Amino acid sequence: MKLNLNIQPLSSWIKTSSEPLVISGPCSAETEEQLVATAHLLAQTGKISALRAGIWKPRTRPGEFEGIGSIGLEWLKRAKAETGLPTAVEVATAKHVEEALAAGVDILWVGARSTANPFTVQEIADALKGVDVPVMVKNPVNPDLSLWVGALERINNTGITKLAAIHRGFSSYEKSAFRNEPMWDVAISLKTLAPELPIINDPSHITGNRDLIGYVSQKALDLDMQGLMIESHIDPSVAWTDAKQQVTPAALADIIDHLALRKPEVKNSEVNDKLAELRNQIDKIDDLVIQKIAERMQIAEKIGQYKKDNNITILQVGRWDEILQKRTTYGKALKLSGEFTEKLLELVHSESIRRQTEVMNAEASQGQAEKLTHA
Ligand code: PEP
Ligand code: MN
Repeated sequence: MKLNLNIQPLSSWIKTSSEPLVISGPCSAETEEQLVATAHLLAQTGKISALRAGIWKPRTRPGEFEGIGSIGLEWLKRAKAETGLPTAVEVATAKHVEEALAAGVDILWVGARSTANPFTVQEIADALKGVDVPVMVKNPVNPDLSLWVGALERINNTGITKLAAIHRGFSSYEKSAFRNEPMWDVAISLKTLAPELPIINDPSHITGNRDLIGYVSQKALDLDMQGLMIESHIDPSVAWTDAKQQVTPAALADIIDHLALRKPEVKNSEVNDKLAELRNQIDKIDDLVIQKIAERMQIAEKIGQYKKDNNITILQVGRWDEILQKRTTYGKALKLSGEFTEKLLELVHSESIRRQTEVMNAEASQGQAEKLTHA
């Protein structure tokens, strides 16, 4: 299936100052000084194509800082006039759209919480009727590709053709190193559905941690995403929102300098271009294979826990024989040699057993400790 979106290329609405395309600026506009000073430092790096700032902030709990509001639009005007950087803000209501457009904001984006709500997206889309402004749509907070697609369609249907998606990761119940799980395969699926739709990665909201921004940015570029949106602040330690994930403009420049822009090895050669394309496909598949093996290990741990709770041994020879038999037959049907599939399974299985054993032992010592304390 392919999506039927009417899209203009990214280069038609944003001038890439340097590779890769980077949109940066504070999570929230806090004061005129903070915004304008950050904008100047960003502009001086020469690596930024647009200035972002949250003016209206969707906060999880009431009573937290909910954005500086309309006055911030005046500060953005000043930042733009002084630095020449186009500006981008999040809009969540028709009123936000009207105010942002009236203030000359260049790019609008729909936030993750809004994308999750079709009523909100439709309200924004209706307010955009007849307007020619670039719009970026963040993925919804939950990993639902259809919601993301639906929001892009609603905005596109209203006549907005300068359209991009922003991949900012997904809220997850499981604890991990990330604030929002990247679930790269969801973004890859979107790319597959709409190859012409630019996808911009937001490593700030994926990681929630400035130390991991470089790593996620590199991964995004390696997956052929078209740009990055990274939060920056003149003094992140005192930021009113998302302090842990913001970086100074200097740190941002350093992150960008360390990114490898992977291009085909030899230019102007059809052969090498083709080779690079194939390697890119292999890289993506390998990432998925690793991700899937990691997911398999997590399930193995759950099984370990379950076996422990029900007094079942880790290894059941019957089950292992069945896995070997079924998978090698399947492998052969897909032209993988029986020997290869067997070796691969053995490796995966032994790691799986190791992980299950760890779970059991952890439980055993905890159980013993409990017995001792209750003794
Ligand atoms: C933001 O960009 O500051 C923001 C609120 O992001 P998200 O909608 O991804 O949570
Ligand atoms: Mn933020």
